[in-house]
Amino acid sequence: MTPELNSIDRVGVVGAGTMGSGIAQVAATSGYDVVMRDIEETYVENGFETVAESLERLVRNDTLTDSEAAAIEDRIVGTTELDDLSNCDLIVEAALEEIDVKRDIFSDLDDIAADDAVLATNTSTLSITTIAAATERPESVVGLHFMNPVPVMKGVEVVRGEKTDDGIVEMAHAFAEDLDKETWESDDKPGFVANRILMPWINEGVRAYDEGVASKADIDSGMKLGTNVPMGPLELADHIGLDICLHATETLHEELGDRYTPAYLLKRKVEAGDLGKKTGQGFYSYE
Ligand code: NAD
Repeated sequence: MTPELNSIDRVGVVGAGTMGSGIAQVAATSGYDVVMRDIEETYVENGFETVAESLERLVRNDTLTDSEAAAIEDRIVGTTELDDLSNCDLIVEAALEEIDVKRDIFSDLDDIAADDAVLATNTSTLSITTIAAATERPESVVGLHFMNPVPVMKGVEVVRGEKTDDGIVEMAHAFAEDLDKETWESDDKPGFVANRILMPWINEGVRAYDEGVASKADIDSGMKLGTNVPMGPLELADHIGLDICLHATETLHEELGDRYTPAYLLKRKVEAGDLGKKTGQGFYSYE
């Protein structure tokens, strides 16, 4: 039976990292009760800290009042037990971008989730169909690909796996719209729409820099001024994390062939541990 949006009260989030904490925050902001699960207590606490910092910013900008922010935080419960998601109507997985990790999580969710729960994954590039096949209910599994930072970015990509039920796809759009997001839909093909196009754009920016086409700053300014995007490819790579970009590009390369070969300099920077903003050094320095 396909659930209706008004049957969704409780939302489960698997993973309390960058994306999971953001998804928990926007779901709680829209009035859902949220259960946010990670594997260790400290990761759950980090997730709450990320939510608190983001809400504080919104209070400072007068987007929220103190009491609204407190009410949002109160709607999120943290846990390290997957069983605590058993009474969730919709569960979004936002754990590591590794197929075996995601398949294990979905197999476990299959055991504990309610029969009519919607099971969504926030994967950036992995196959929804392969993840769904770890369950006995692939028709209930859908891609719900939020963008980073979740509270700020308006777009959500809905991805239809080979067996995803039409009603579950509709439900995914309706849920994201209820979180004040706008959606688009992609078939389950490598990288979907967003990363299939974004990753080669970043990769080509790295190559252009490595091949001496222009300075870093000129490559970024050229794309910003010339094509009206808010960040150039090297700045954006630093923001996303160079390891994430390399991993996504390698997945696309495996599936789609040589046009996605990772730029040599991207591999070298990752090997050197210069992963972007998160390590303080990527293409630029962040002190
Ligand atoms: P992250 O590393 O910040 O967080 C992942 C969290 O998952 C960690 O806290 C980790 O402890 C936890 N985790 C690992 N195994 C788990 C398990 N079995 N159960 C529960 N939690 C578990 O990663 P992230 O950037 O939040 O990415 C999460 C997912 O979202 C990935 O699939 C990624 O591809 C996707 N995504 C990321 C971005 C981005 O820009 N960071 C954007 C869109 C989508």
